[in-house]
Amino acid sequence: MTAARSPWDLDRSELEALLGDQPSYRIDQIWTGLHQQGLPPSELTVLPKSLRARLAELTEPSLRPAAAQETADGLTVKRLWELTDGARIESVLMHYPNRSTVCVSSQVGCAMACGFCATGQAGFDRHLSLGEILEQVVAARNEAAPRRLSNVVFMGMGEPFANYATVLTAIGRITDDLGIGARKITVSTIGLVPQIRRFAEEGLQVGLAVSLHGANNDLRTSLVPVNKRHPIEAVVDACRMFRERTGRRVSFEWAMIDGVNDRDSDARELISVATTARAHVNLIPLNPTPGWPTVGSPPDRIDSFANLLRQAGVNATIRTNRGTDIDAACGQLRANAERASTKAVRVEMAPRSPS
Ligand code: SAH
Repeated sequence: MTAARSPWDLDRSELEALLGDQPSYRIDQIWTGLHQQGLPPSELTVLPKSLRARLAELTEPSLRPAAAQETADGLTVKRLWELTDGARIESVLMHYPNRSTVCVSSQVGCAMACGFCATGQAGFDRHLSLGEILEQVVAARNEAAPRRLSNVVFMGMGEPFANYATVLTAIGRITDDLGIGARKITVSTIGLVPQIRRFAEEGLQVGLAVSLHGANNDLRTSLVPVNKRHPIEAVVDACRMFRERTGRRVSFEWAMIDGVNDRDSDARELISVATTARAHVNLIPLNPTPGWPTVGSPPDRIDSFANLLRQAGVNATIRTNRGTDIDAACGQLRANAERASTKAVRVEMAPRSPS
């Protein structure tokens, strides 16, 4: 027997076809309940009991909470979800003074094999479905209330552009039905060039972040194996095209790794690449992972690296490291939960000193 689909997997016409004999105002009620109220079918009390039961029988929400970690200030909550086939994925909700952002996964695992990434270390299982992606956003929006979930970033587990069609459909639903504007959505890619070029042509205002991490091909290939197929020059060309077509600046992500890509010479190479791409640079202090021997750069090194970029006219920011204390590096909560075979743990962490 195939597993029931998530109610969020269906578009309106599929919903109509599934229920057959329902008038369109009922479909409207279901659609509003799922998207505006974020309720599963079993809680759509606006429906007659029999219809609610039928919908609950024909569809099944995909996400079940498996574990959660929350910083003591309550501003970062990381969730591990179990899917209907037992696979596990993570999403992270982060509150800032002026916005609340959810970081969602697009695949179970990842095939890109970046050595410093906990998800990459674990390998690829499968793509996420539309419903599995949307449910992460709906769950975060429910959890954020009364704050408004304002931003969605595809920076969780997986390579969103390897699951291109589904991610694109999810973006359409997030903007049209969940009411989050395209400009508040960012897709982060390892740098799959054909997909960056295709994305540039979609006519969307969605932001693009590219994981660069190295600005010469030898270094980048050692950190990001897919660089062999899509070298820096091709990535930069695609980013320039994205900027031309959309008018939006690309952001380069750069995990700061001690002694590996944080030297003055790395800064000089990055300045040249970022200037050519006219990209913004986002420096991310490396989150340590068990499967990778190197550590993150010390804070003063990150500051002076950022200053070198700024002095050369490159727009650079240092990402505040949300949740190093709570296994918040991509894929870490799942890895650690599996190691400890924890179920539904809730770990309260000590407060962090502001960074
Ligand atoms: N596959 C996509 C999106 C997921 S990863 C991509 O590669 O962009 C989101 C970001 O987190 C990427 O920039 C990735 O390189 C970075 N990242 C992964 N593991 C990390 C770690 N241990 N420390 C810091 N950043 C990490």
